[in-house]
Amino acid sequence: MDAAGKDWNSPLDPDDWAALRRQGHAMLDDMLDHLQGAAAGAGPVWRQPGAAIRDSIREALPATGAPLDQVYQQFRNSILPYSVGNTHPGFMGWVHGAGTPVGMLAEMLAAGLNANLGGRDHMPVELERQVVRWVAQLFSFPEEASGLFVTGSSMANLIGVLVARRRALGAEVRTQGVRDNAQTLVAYAVRGTHGCVSRGMDMAGLGSANLRLIDQQADGSVDVAAMRAAIEAHLRAGLRPFLIVGTAGSVDIGSIDDLHALADLAAEFGVHYHVDGAIGALCLLSPQLARKFAGIERADSIAMDFHKWMHVPYDAGFILVRSAQWQVETFADLGQSYLAREPGGLSAGSPWPCDLGPDLSRGFRALKVWMSLKVLGADKLGQAMAESCERAQYLAARIAAEPELELMAPVQLNIVCFRYRTPPDLSTDINARLLRDIQLSGIAAPSSTRLGGQYVIRAALLNHRTGRAKLDELVEFTLTTGRALLAAQA
Ligand SMILES: *Cc1c(COP(=O)(O)O)cnc(C)c1O
Repeated sequence: MDAAGKDWNSPLDPDDWAALRRQGHAMLDDMLDHLQGAAAGAGPVWRQPGAAIRDSIREALPATGAPLDQVYQQFRNSILPYSVGNTHPGFMGWVHGAGTPVGMLAEMLAAGLNANLGGRDHMPVELERQVVRWVAQLFSFPEEASGLFVTGSSMANLIGVLVARRRALGAEVRTQGVRDNAQTLVAYAVRGTHGCVSRGMDMAGLGSANLRLIDQQADGSVDVAAMRAAIEAHLRAGLRPFLIVGTAGSVDIGSIDDLHALADLAAEFGVHYHVDGAIGALCLLSPQLARKFAGIERADSIAMDFHKWMHVPYDAGFILVRSAQWQVETFADLGQSYLAREPGGLSAGSPWPCDLGPDLSRGFRALKVWMSLKVLGADKLGQAMAESCERAQYLAARIAAEPELELMAPVQLNIVCFRYRTPPDLSTDINARLLRDIQLSGIAAPSSTRLGGQYVIRAALLNHRTGRAKLDELVEFTLTTGRALLAAQA
């Protein structure tokens, strides 16, 4: 035993805590500098890692350790400067959150606790339950609602499909599977729905082809009459409609389905009503934007992402379910004696989060969401979302005012799709090359999609750091580069 009465020193804890403390403080300072720099728009949005950088991390599994300082320098040199860039004001690709310093600090606290939120009786689990209550309140869900943090909306949408499947087929589907002679279960969503919904059908054993994609109206929202006609035709053909998926913010253009009409349709046909709110659901934090999502409160389940427009660090997806019983019946496996629950002690507090989804070991995602909401407040977070929508309108107006540019979809939320106009006889479209040049310039990083068969540049304005000057810079760069590319073609 040493002087402190210890008979054992962990081989994995440091020998010199004072030295570690100094290094840790320096790392924290560096990361806060990094975020402060990002906030100021320092450096390029993204730089492509060259071969030398990629090679710099290739090595054999290290048998013996190296000093933390040295490994940290490798992180500083080879990783930090070559991240995707979504903390930078120029980032506007895909659907990425920008993060916040509060979120980063919360992640550090969560990692220090190293809590496992699969279950058991402790305050981290209790905090997740509090966040679930807040989310239920935001969506005016009843007391008996339940919810769960998951990786992202891909998982949350899969859970929505599984809850709907269990509701349609009963407990037996969990032990017997989907039987050969069962009626085919059919789900419905708008044609612009995210690919993870059909993958959810696939992974649930229901088949991706049994997600029927319904045509869009001019604004991108689902044609509800066409969905009704499809359901009626399928019923006549002996199929079994079981799920309607509403889209609250489509990934291509940010369109929003008529969420009330879909709720009515689901009620009329007695099917589960799930909403993919990965982009838009948390707009309910903004009274101004909430109006666009009227009817979402009637969903049976909602998928959403705190890591997108609420800027909580990755990852923080969430599923909200109208009835805790549905969720427990879909996932709980109380038969395992290893996970037995007790009325007291550490094994109390059933149901546990692991009864509500597929994961047993789970991190403390709730802490970063709780801290972001507590420190920043719902109003400011909602305000930041409303401001991104205003900036999207600004960008759309700038594009509409430039004869060389063409706005490719109505801007209903925060996504702006556009093209550099090219003569119809041009053999190869310059827009893909143009996008690459924009990204390589380091000024801005939009992404792309295809609309009506055409390649379009897509700017998704989630980032709370993106101001109008950055959008002006994007438009100017697009015009000069587009002209140069066109001249080179001619
Ligand atoms: C991002 C997104 C998803 C998938 O969510 P992940 O968090 O990336 O798993 C699903 N639907 C929509 C509309 C999305 O934007």
